[in-house]
Amino acid sequence: MTAQTKTDAWTADRDHLLHPYTDFSTFREEGSQVIESASGMHVIDSEGNKLLDGIGGLWCVNIGHGRKEMAETIAEQVMKMQYYNPFGHSTNVPASMLGAKLAELAPGDLNHVYYTCGGSTANDAAIRLVHFYFDQLGQHRKKKIISRANAYHGATYVAASLTGIHGTKMGFDRIGEDFIHHVSAANLYEKPDGWSDADYCDYLVREFDARIQQLGPDNVAAFIAEPIMGAGGVLVAPDGYHRRMWEVCQKYDMLYIADEVVTAFGRLGEWFASDALYDYQPDIMVCAKGLSSGYIPLGATLLSTRVYDVIAQPQCEGGVLSMGLTYFGHPVACAAALKNIEIMERENILEHVREVGPYLQESAKSLMNLPIVGDVRGSHLMLGVDLVKDKGTKEAIGDGVGEKIFQGCLKRGVIVRPVGDRMIVSPPLIISKEECDEIVAAISGAIKDYL
Ligand code: PLP
Repeated sequence: MTAQTKTDAWTADRDHLLHPYTDFSTFREEGSQVIESASGMHVIDSEGNKLLDGIGGLWCVNIGHGRKEMAETIAEQVMKMQYYNPFGHSTNVPASMLGAKLAELAPGDLNHVYYTCGGSTANDAAIRLVHFYFDQLGQHRKKKIISRANAYHGATYVAASLTGIHGTKMGFDRIGEDFIHHVSAANLYEKPDGWSDADYCDYLVREFDARIQQLGPDNVAAFIAEPIMGAGGVLVAPDGYHRRMWEVCQKYDMLYIADEVVTAFGRLGEWFASDALYDYQPDIMVCAKGLSSGYIPLGATLLSTRVYDVIAQPQCEGGVLSMGLTYFGHPVACAAALKNIEIMERENILEHVREVGPYLQESAKSLMNLPIVGDVRGSHLMLGVDLVKDKGTKEAIGDGVGEKIFQGCLKRGVIVRPVGDRMIVSPPLIISKEECDEIVAAISGAIKDYL
């Protein structure tokens, strides 16, 4: 981290905050970079550095920073009615209207919404609802969940246990291995030499099927997957993979949970990626991030009518769905999400992504000419760049090189995200082609400095 002026915020942060993903061996000395303001594609730190936000805050600021009408909508809703409890038969206008809007935008019969405070809680809710669903059907043993290596599903207890990235779980206990199982990630870059994409896809589907057989189909409730793995390294699956995994779920009467926390709301040029890009219809779809573009926390677990109808049968003990979050359907968050969607529609942001996204992917391919770049991959405005010691062996570069490249980009006024040996780019969706070039040039320049 660049040396920061020791403002009151810098000191207070260092002395009082327990940051996610902090290296405590250096934190007390180096502290944090304090970001003080933001507008459009840029953020400004406490030293006045204006930085191009190549990571959209954290894959979430889809409509860009500092929109006045978002602030006005939030203020208006606070003044009208900032909160009232959502339990039982009580509701509010923004939560109801957002529910209808999500049902309109979501594919198929994903017509029912359980609101949460973000992506992790939405995944937790999905798992609880899956269990509730099979209990309602009298299938009390059908509870195991299959996730994937390298998946990222969040930081709450269940979501972190679903997660398959080893580094995010180090030092923590997790929920029993007997309950959550992981199959291989679908990562074309690491498919075995000599295999076609189709061979690799066959292998992954066979592995999944065999794992279900091994666990017993009567015991396995659901599969959870991101359409493109995000934090796991922007891992793109082979053609047909999701559809075929979904077909296996159908075969064994399992539910398919699509974690679209990153991919929904335009990052791949669609409201949701599952159906539009990958031709499968999830039973449950989880979203957050771009739903409110990071102006306020919000997550949503969307349920198909088929799942809803079973959950809504008043058979359970007590006769009610006893899963209540104080901030379910928070009126201010839901009003912000409605305005965020309205802006995306009014400005044709999805169409813009369909144009600028392929441009970013294409221009980033030039990075492959650099000796330590092993792979450049992604789709639309999700981009991953793998740093390797050797292109032949694909051995990861290690030695904190990712962090060095991050610093080199920062020096050039561009923020990208180092995740181990991978650089990740996920900018606001309003990015221009010139700004795409700026990001690619910064990564290239930082790598050349390192070489
Ligand atoms: N699912 C995916 C695919 C994510 O990328 C994330 C966060 O990055 C989450 C879930 C967790 O969301 P949150 O951090 O809002 O709890």
